[in-house]
Amino acid sequence: MNSLISKMKQIVGARGILLGADVRSRSDFWPPTGGCQAKALLRPATTREVSEILKLCHAEGQTVVTHGGLTGLVGGARACEDDLVLSMERMTDIAAVDVINRTISVEAGVPLQKVQEAAEAADLLFPLDLGARGSATIGGTISTNAGGNSVIRYGMMRNQLLGVEAVLADGTIISSLKGVIKNNTGYDLKQLFIGSEGTLGVVTRAVLRLRPLPRSCNTALVAIDDFERLGRFLRDMDSALGGTLSAYEVLWNDFYRLIVANSDRHGLPLGPDHEFYVLIESTGGHEDADKARFEAALEEALEQELIVDAVVAQSKQQREDLWAIRDDIESLAKKLFPPITYDISLGIPQMDDYVSEVRQQLTEHWPDSHMVAFGHLGDGNIHLVITVGSLETDEVHAVNEIVYTALGRRQGVISAEHGIGLDKREYLKHSRSAEEIALMKTIKQALDPRGILNPNKIFEVVSS
Ligand SMILES: Cc1cc2nc3c(=O)[nH]c(=O)nc-3n(C[C@H](O)[C@H](O)[C@H](O)COP(=O)(O)OP(=O)(O)OC[C@H]3O[C@@H](n4cnc5c(N)ncnc54)[C@H](O)[C@@H]3O)c2cc1C
Repeated sequence: MNSLISKMKQIVGARGILLGADVRSRSDFWPPTGGCQAKALLRPATTREVSEILKLCHAEGQTVVTHGGLTGLVGGARACEDDLVLSMERMTDIAAVDVINRTISVEAGVPLQKVQEAAEAADLLFPLDLGARGSATIGGTISTNAGGNSVIRYGMMRNQLLGVEAVLADGTIISSLKGVIKNNTGYDLKQLFIGSEGTLGVVTRAVLRLRPLPRSCNTALVAIDDFERLGRFLRDMDSALGGTLSAYEVLWNDFYRLIVANSDRHGLPLGPDHEFYVLIESTGGHEDADKARFEAALEEALEQELIVDAVVAQSKQQREDLWAIRDDIESLAKKLFPPITYDISLGIPQMDDYVSEVRQQLTEHWPDSHMVAFGHLGDGNIHLVITVGSLETDEVHAVNEIVYTALGRRQGVISAEHGIGLDKREYLKHSRSAEEIALMKTIKQALDPRGILNPNKIFEVVSS
């Protein structure tokens, strides 16, 4: 056996390493289909083991790709045959919730949903939420600075993280686990590991901030017939709901038709001919008062003719049914096969014009192309899913050019949530200046001079 592999085996034990066919049966992409090419997959059980592994990799110039729940959508966890994979699947400890400080300390391999459940059991809320909650891990959501459904109220993962423990490329353990909200003692080092996609360190543990568990939840799907009213409805509801607005998800008509009207999976809560549909939700502390306020705000919006129709969920099941429409990415990927997906950010006033321009250019190039738009409009973030009937490199490149060039002209950002990984690397320049990218490379060089951590993700690195 190759000596590096046998040294690794000494660190993690026989249970902690997979080789050959066992590695190929693993995935490094979503949806999982197998085919991981790495030379071995390591399953450390402790931070100390992660540190020993990286110390060895650093000494030998061995590249390492960290795996969380593999729900990332930009190829950030993809490994080649020269890489070792470091899977966090055995690091799933959840320490007791601190109910007074409202914090929870967890290992990086814990799935997001488990943290939500642990918080709820202590009558608290962990507010980060996204469709992949059952698989996405805390380490992965930190490394991608994940967003999701309630960013408008609680912010992204960056806003939930109080402390972090991470292992640097040379094996140094940085334990910065103080669970305090205010800490101005020099550089905020945890920021290095948030959204850096495993290129600056391996996250092993986190202290997360919890919030009061809402006592009420009011949800509605409303129909709106012109874009300008979408922005006014958002502003008016945010103000009328007194800080309790917790989701504002917009579906363009083409999304609604594809997922709801042309399918028997979801019923038809509202007619199919409206320009836009908004899934709006408010969570608060008083059931009766919050319901009355929510319904009064909707009535006011109807009277003001901001909205033309609305259905209010009357039960938990009805709420889940409405969210199932927004979250039905599986149907979307099947109906728009093969899909090319985007998660872009831009100013709300520019969105409609942007979507129309992209749609028009796509139709000019590919008359049979299909595109739907939807997303977290309240956060200035929309998703586009496009199919041109092929995933040939040249075709994807041509679609990317249309999507990103129109975005660049409007000062937009090519990734609001999913990150850059491998798939968007070539387009980073549309959102970051040459000086910004140079500074990122300086930080990478300082922390990982041999370029062993998740090599060539976000940008290409020259190792020393
Ligand atoms: C159905 C679906 C819905 C989604 N919805 C959203 C959404 O609403 N908002 C959103 O932001 N994203 C969303 N995503 C994308 C994805 O869930 C997030 O990017 C998530 O944060 C990835 O977590 P993961 O554990 O699966 O990470 P992985 O996919 O395993 O890895 C992602 C990146 O993080 C790195 N990484 C993983 N763990 C660690 C660690 N411990 N230390 C250092 N680096 C690490 C990997 O190397 C890779 O670069 C969705 C994905 C799916 C499939």
